[in-house]
Amino acid sequence: MDCIFCKIANGQVSAKKVYENKKILAFQDMNPVAPVHILFIPKEHICCINDINIGNSEIIGNIFCSIAEIARKMGLGKGYRVISNCGEDGGQTVEHLHFHLIGGKKLGWPGVD
Ligand code: AMP
Ligand code: ZN
Repeated sequence: MDCIFCKIANGQVSAKKVYENKKILAFQDMNPVAPVHILFIPKEHICCINDINIGNSEIIGNIFCSIAEIARKMGLGKGYRVISNCGEDGGQTVEHLHFHLIGGKKLGWPGVD
């Protein structure tokens, strides 16, 4: 399978890593939309939110605990946003589950029409 985020997770493709533990990885988005834009991914390939189940759900808690920790470290005390685009209509372009941590400025609410 040709998955860019699996390749980042296994070191085949380089990325600016921000945080890593046994199960998850966080790295800088290469096309940031705000002063802070970090992607959190499971190291194992999970396609999107649709593929989260009781068997792999622990990893989601792991990701969110890490998001909170990194947000604190990045000085996002005034707030931030976490987004996971799912599927074509959700705007997902990389089919490996990821959570965008976006902040560092006052965010507008994106298009939901
Ligand atoms: P999404 O559109 O929600 O699937 O988000 C995919 C995100 O991955 C986009 O914000 C891209 O800028 C980012 N991205 C894609 N390839 C890479 C890469 N090799 N390194 C860092 N970020 C990437
Ligand atoms: Zn993958």
